Amino acid sequence: MEIFNYLAEHNHEEVIFWSDKTAGLRAIVAIHSTVLGPALGGCRMWPYVSEEDALLDVLRLAEGMTYKASLAGLDFGGGKAVIIGDPARDKSAALWQAFGKFINSLHGRYITGEDVGTTVVDMALVHQSTPYVVGLPKTEHGSGDPSPVTAFGVYRGIRACCRACFGSDDLRGRTVAVQGLGKVGAHLARLLAQDGARLVASELNAERAAKIALELGIKLVPPDDIYEVKCDVFAPCALGAVINDTTIGRLRCRIVAGAANNQLADDQLGFELAERNILFAPDYVINAGGIISIGSEVGAFDAQTAWHKTSAIYDSLLRIVALSREEGVPTHLAAHRLAQARIELVKQEHAFFAGRPAINPK
Ligand code: NAD
Repeated sequence: MEIFNYLAEHNHEEVIFWSDKTAGLRAIVAIHSTVLGPALGGCRMWPYVSEEDALLDVLRLAEGMTYKASLAGLDFGGGKAVIIGDPARDKSAALWQAFGKFINSLHGRYITGEDVGTTVVDMALVHQSTPYVVGLPKTEHGSGDPSPVTAFGVYRGIRACCRACFGSDDLRGRTVAVQGLGKVGAHLARLLAQDGARLVASELNAERAAKIALELGIKLVPPDDIYEVKCDVFAPCALGAVINDTTIGRLRCRIVAGAANNQLADDQLGFELAERNILFAPDYVINAGGIISIGSEVGAFDAQTAWHKTSAIYDSLLRIVALSREEGVPTHLAAHRLAQARIELVKQEHAFFAGRPAINPK
């Protein structure tokens, strides 16, 4: 991988590698941008096949966090951490202590939190070595599991997309196909069911699926069949890159709107969705409830405000759709332009005030 070329092309500020042999820690932090504030983003633990895979993942995720914070109106930049390891096997108190020391050495330029493969309990252990961690358990005055807030944001986003597509955000009688009934997917399904949506879902964990399906009256389909379900909304709430060259031609929906990060395997697929007249809710916009929720821990706003800010995902999506129609570009590009515009504005403000005395000397 041509690392410096990649950093220059995507405007990353910094990448830091950290190794602690005794604790078994191999971690990478990518700081994409600190223009809006300290870089905020979770720590993913994953048994990456190669170090290059881990590096690429952290770089992509960190960049996504910059745009996510920008469009959510948060004063945070974008960053992310990855730990190379198996979350089921390689966790230990020593590992989290070493990771906490690493994060502390960055003096707040990056604030970590939970992500795939890590939990609020892990973050409580990290907190023993650094204050620069959010997403702590409620018992430690943290905001706890962000999934309910994330699901609420996705629900609001789905309604906004329905309004943009069908002229009404009423979900009664609309069919939503949910991929993954995990923490976010299950909360989302509950909110959609309350509004009278018809639900179809797929989930790898058969026991979990059966329990939730029974509770909410969901029709379950085998995992690979979810792409071909005839529906109004396809809501990916499992893994990333599910919109790819193999799946895109199988979709029978009008809207793709779900919680999963990096749903498009590459940006070109955003153009293809638009050509197929499928409205795509950019993932970092619609799933921002989680970062808004954990952002409340650093004291800028309270938990109640986090729900209000998450509710405003509805308006953000309508703005993105309007810009996309005005400029004739797909929604993923419109979102990128809006996120970048806020960052550029703040950059210009920084440049304007740089070197000026804070108080008029007269
Ligand atoms: P989770 O692990 O609780 O749920 C994911 C579920 O998807 C699991 O139940 C898993 O069995 C299922 N699954 C995996 N592969 C599948 C497949 N091919 N078909 C059907 N089901 C499959 O994770 P989560 O916290 O609910 O997050 C879901 C997605 O949303 C992830 O991509 C995550 O990165 C993203 N996200 C989550 C949050 C949050 O607050 N939790 C915030 C932002 C983004």
